[in-house]
Amino acid sequence: MRVRVLGTAAGGGVPQWNCGCGGCAGARRHPERRRSHASLAVSGSSAGPWYVVNATPDLTDQIEAWADLRPEPGGRRSPLAGVILTDAELDHTLGLFQLREASRVSVLSTAAVWRGLSNGLRVHEVLAPYTDLSWRELRDGESVRLDGGLRVRAVPVSGKRPRYAAEERAGHWSVALRIDGERGSLVYAPAIADWSPELDKELSDADCVFVDGTFWDDQEPRTAGFSRRTATQMGHLPISGPSGTAGRLARLPARHRFYTHLNNTNPLTDPDAPQHALLAADGIEVAAEGMILEP
Ligand SMILES: [Zn+2]
Repeated sequence: MRVRVLGTAAGGGVPQWNCGCGGCAGARRHPERRRSHASLAVSGSSAGPWYVVNATPDLTDQIEAWADLRPEPGGRRSPLAGVILTDAELDHTLGLFQLREASRVSVLSTAAVWRGLSNGLRVHEVLAPYTDLSWRELRDGESVRLDGGLRVRAVPVSGKRPRYAAEERAGHWSVALRIDGERGSLVYAPAIADWSPELDKELSDADCVFVDGTFWDDQEPRTAGFSRRTATQMGHLPISGPSGTAGRLARLPARHRFYTHLNNTNPLTDPDAPQHALLAADGIEVAAEGMILEP
């Protein structure tokens, strides 16, 4: 399996267009600190085809930034075979609209996520005149075969709906993805509201894990002043503190352990922040834009 980290930021990116916080200001001063919306490209082999995990508002830039995802010279044949969604949040789905130039767009998600996209964002209705949009359901506990020899499975992590889908009925609105190749396995979990036994089991025998690094501490959304809710109440367990995930992540046997999906308020957006050393002591890193792995 081959993995490319396309982006590592939570909603808004780093910098966020309307934000002047320390992290955003730092990224404006130091372009190497910029982070695009969190996404991965995965393939069973280096020759592709490729699947992207989540379709962010940065998707077409993320594709252009990497030769393996660009079309071959002549014609319009993209090596992109489909999009796998962890949830229906805007920062993970707006990129679907940018794929309208394709003759076919293949989406894999849970039934709840597809319902949200169809009823709330009207994705199917809007894209149907442009492209052939097809959907495959990720059912609880069931592996789906992808082109190129990968298998993907959804691991429910929460029932938190996007705000635009607040009226929709309950379901698996947010999942982690377990992706297995012929050799190597990966878990991608950009939103963890609860470190469940089911999620822990999937993480405990994966070669490579990418975990929710949205907030450093639970009070961060409050102290930063953009929400009255804590990180946990926003559906993201923090990295540090009593409910923090760092201890659990440190104990996993995975060869590669990363935090991703960083909010712009997270001190880890500053590469000189002392928090990096705390994580490094436990063998944990913050995922970098563009990094390539072969788990
Ligand atoms: Zn900011």
